[in-house]
Amino acid sequence: MPLRSDRAAPDVLVIGGGNAALCAALMALESGATVRLIEVAPREWRGGNSMHTRNLRCMHDAPQDVLVEAYPEEEFWQDLLRVTGGQTNEALARLVIRASSTCRPWMRRHGVRFQPSLSGALHTARTNAFFMGGGKALVNAYFRSAEALGAQIDYNAEAVRIELDGDRFVAAHVRHSLPDGSAQEERITATSCVLACGGFESNRDWLREAWGVNDYGEHPADNFLIRGTRFNTGTIIANLRDQGADLIGDPTQAHMVAIDARAPLYDGGICTRIDAVSLGIVVNRHTRRFYDEGEDFWPKRYAIWGRLVALQPGQIAWCVIDSKAIGRFMPPVFPGVRDQTLAGLANQLGLDADQMLRTIDEFNRGCRPGRFDHTVLDDCSTEGVTPAKTHWARPIDTPPFFAYAVRPGVTFTYLGFRTDDSTAVHFAGRPSPNLFAAGELMSGNVLGKGYTAGVGMTIGTAFGRIAGTRAAAAALGRDGADTLKIIEERDRAAV
Ligand SMILES: Cc1cc2nc3c(=O)[nH]c(=O)nc-3n(C[C@H](O)[C@H](O)[C@H](O)COP(=O)(O)OP(=O)(O)OC[C@H]3O[C@@H](n4cnc5c(N)ncnc54)[C@H](O)[C@@H]3O)c2cc1C
Repeated sequence: MPLRSDRAAPDVLVIGGGNAALCAALMALESGATVRLIEVAPREWRGGNSMHTRNLRCMHDAPQDVLVEAYPEEEFWQDLLRVTGGQTNEALARLVIRASSTCRPWMRRHGVRFQPSLSGALHTARTNAFFMGGGKALVNAYFRSAEALGAQIDYNAEAVRIELDGDRFVAAHVRHSLPDGSAQEERITATSCVLACGGFESNRDWLREAWGVNDYGEHPADNFLIRGTRFNTGTIIANLRDQGADLIGDPTQAHMVAIDARAPLYDGGICTRIDAVSLGIVVNRHTRRFYDEGEDFWPKRYAIWGRLVALQPGQIAWCVIDSKAIGRFMPPVFPGVRDQTLAGLANQLGLDADQMLRTIDEFNRGCRPGRFDHTVLDDCSTEGVTPAKTHWARPIDTPPFFAYAVRPGVTFTYLGFRTDDSTAVHFAGRPSPNLFAAGELMSGNVLGKGYTAGVGMTIGTAFGRIAGTRAAAAALGRDGADTLKIIEERDRAAV
């Protein structure tokens, strides 16, 4: 039974409650539009993956408040080009990069505070501006500001279907979860709409289908953990896909990190990452190594290890270090399994102790003498060992020994809506006049694959602000082509 709404239809309906949605809502409000924002999570879990973040990547030509030295447009672009292997839209990528140099005063005006990079935070003092209080504080500040500007906010409200007239948004069908466990539906009309409700990483059935069955007869996705919110189930991506929206991105591509196997299924956040890989070795269930643990600096490699572990039998692996590594990496929340002997360690892990001794003996014998230095690509490598460890290879011989079980941790998926610099959702190549998309659910336009730390929030901020401005213009009958000028003016006014 539809819930009859006694509220007037807003100019702009925003679906989602993370960074992209809030940036869109704030810009629409500043443009003079009325805004209603629909967040599926309860208030205490609002903010999606954005609440787990720490920073955003920013271009700058000279030192800027919390950012040291310079990080010019060309270097940012080359970084993006490298990690995506060219699977990126240059015009949209450059738009994001440029927007990152001017958005922070506006963010501050809405209550976000910045702080210098934390030590141990993946060498990001030059490239990334850190949020004081993390993403949770950012999200709280934006909600406060949006409320002060008059946004109507609904929690426990899930958009389940978008009603279209051709390529034009008409209404969202929203399910309100009520405190007594029941649900009521509401049809919310609005003059325009911004979709900013994340990827589909929390939809375990969809992940299962996308990843299929591996050579061991397993469904690998059954063993994935989700680093962020449980609420990004891709409902609206699937709904609009079925109604002919143009999609971009491969459903099996996702940002995946090897995380502590003891992490919770959802919302473990950043503290579950295991950062000891480059200081030791990683073995699979057969107690065999399977990849070069020292291929490159950890900040450039941590995001490939989730996928590497996903390809192993049982989707589990163990990072093994000796006491020489202690103090050289950010300690995880839970202590590792510890033993005075390698055989004892293997027994505690339930691994074959004889094979563990063989694997480590072979590795240790392959380590060539060198000058260990974890801050450079040093000359400590192996010889005659497959796979080789090309840097920071030192024998694992100094007790006590430690091990951390790791599993694939999905950060976010890349499948989403194909768009252009207006952020309009496209249908058969044509932009919708009043339906826009921002954030994770269109990040595939910039990130065909790969990732560089902090770019998720940069994408959400840039496109969220454009989507909100466009949606307000569409609702108020203004010229949407002026969007970038409007944003520039806001940024100048906020300095
Ligand atoms: C642990 C972790 C750490 C990260 N650290 C960083 C970092 O430091 N820097 C960085 O740039 N990126 C980081 N990321 C990536 C970053 O979180 C995302 O790129 C970014 O938050 C995406 O913003 P968004 O607004 O598109 O999505 P989200 O923040 O995920 O917001 C989606 C919102 O939509 C809501 N929603 C979903 N479905 C519906 C529906 N049907 N109806 C209504 N509401 C719905 C959700 O509840 C949520 O509020 C991190 C991610 C994780 C998981």
